[in-house]
Amino acid sequence: MITKSRLCKAIIVCSLLAVLSASPLLNSSAKEVYDVVILNGRVIDPETRLDAVRNVGISAGVIKAITSNGLDGRKVIDAKGLVVTPGFIDLHQHGQDQENYGYKVMDGVTTALELEVGTGDVDRWYDDRAGRASINYGVSIGHLAARMAAMHDPVEFLPSGEAARRAATDAEISDMKAQLEHGLRRGAVAVGFGIQYVPKASSWEILEMFRVAARFGASCHVHLRNAGLKEPGSSTQALEEVIAAAAITGAPLHVVHIQSTGGKATAQLLQMIGEARARNLDVTTECYPYIAGMTDIKSAIFNEGWQEVFGIEYKDLQWAATGERLTKESFDRYRKQGGMVAVFSMTEEIVEEALKNPLTMIASDGILASGKGHPRTAGTYTRVLGRYVRERGALSLMDALRKMTLMPAQRLERRVPSMKNKGRIRVGADADLVIFDTASVIDKSTYDQPAKYSEGIKYVLVNGVVVVKDGNLQTDVYPGRPVRAPMGTTMR
Ligand SMILES: [Zn+2]
Repeated sequence: MITKSRLCKAIIVCSLLAVLSASPLLNSSAKEVYDVVILNGRVIDPETRLDAVRNVGISAGVIKAITSNGLDGRKVIDAKGLVVTPGFIDLHQHGQDQENYGYKVMDGVTTALELEVGTGDVDRWYDDRAGRASINYGVSIGHLAARMAAMHDPVEFLPSGEAARRAATDAEISDMKAQLEHGLRRGAVAVGFGIQYVPKASSWEILEMFRVAARFGASCHVHLRNAGLKEPGSSTQALEEVIAAAAITGAPLHVVHIQSTGGKATAQLLQMIGEARARNLDVTTECYPYIAGMTDIKSAIFNEGWQEVFGIEYKDLQWAATGERLTKESFDRYRKQGGMVAVFSMTEEIVEEALKNPLTMIASDGILASGKGHPRTAGTYTRVLGRYVRERGALSLMDALRKMTLMPAQRLERRVPSMKNKGRIRVGADADLVIFDTASVIDKSTYDQPAKYSEGIKYVLVNGVVVVKDGNLQTDVYPGRPVRAPMGTTMR
């Protein structure tokens, strides 16, 4: 027989036991079953500098456990002998459709952002991709698009009409500012600039755009006004222009593809950025691992004098659609028509110096259209890991991964707080993860065949969903989510 008080005690003891057994902290024998577990991988996290064999447990798209203990999961990935690292974050990816996302994720990219050119219509841009993306996506509000709209040009990828040719009136500058402000209120990640494509944009016009960005704490992702060494009109002067704009307005500055703009001046530009940072200016930069750039042959980049600016000739241009090298005759013909052209303007030394420099992030500047384009779209990240880390020993694996994960996340997290949960392997972080083989990871895309999947990327998870499985792209899953700033808010 049990008395009433004994019954009470028994109930208390029983409930206490129930609490103990439900708590994984107190009783590890009652194991949680995770959605996905990744076992026995070499986990590398650039934020904590962890580089050790661990098991990772994931539930509801979030990392829940990182441990040396055993874990149970409904889905188990054996990562023995493979590296497990945060998914790569590409700050500069123009191609933003399922064709491009497939190549990106096979290269280890879990977040691809179009921040240089951006868009003119932020809401529509995000709506077009909702529920239809295999990786995370995001966009800037673009100065180029705003300028084309203010001048009543058709809004194309790059300007070739009025916006490419003339100075703006005060009223047009006001119109552009209003468009930027609207885009930022609608959650644009950053403000994008391609000043070289609008050579008549005054320094005052650029300053006015930076002032808008500063109010929203938005970084300005800038393709500089000039390339190369030749003065007047050098890349050094172009960098001075935007470092000054950052200092005057307080807007954070991110200089895109520093090695393709800088060419032989790249080391000087990197030195200037280091010095600006030492004076507490928020200036960052990125590069990609190729000796050729690519852009539209119709754009202002090929205005009179381009050979001298880049130090190249017609034969250093390769027409993307056919792979042919150009002559004066074919250049003139294609310039009227428009289309993508590869520009062989850099050297291996320039590329390697840029990659090694601790200031640079890795970003691809990629775009493929029906399989045509630059190999950087499909191969940037595995090329750094295979060619520059493994084969040439130009930089350490940890440093390379930091440039692909933590640094780009940190670049954006002041304006986009959700980026604090990307680029890291940490409990509570988004389960955007790449699992690869250091011995075989390599790019396969070339200038002649740019639409080739990379090799050595064994698994990729986006928000906890497996998008690459045993080296194969899964084509029927769309776990990508928008990367977007909070709506409406200004910093000051
Ligand atoms: Zn560019």
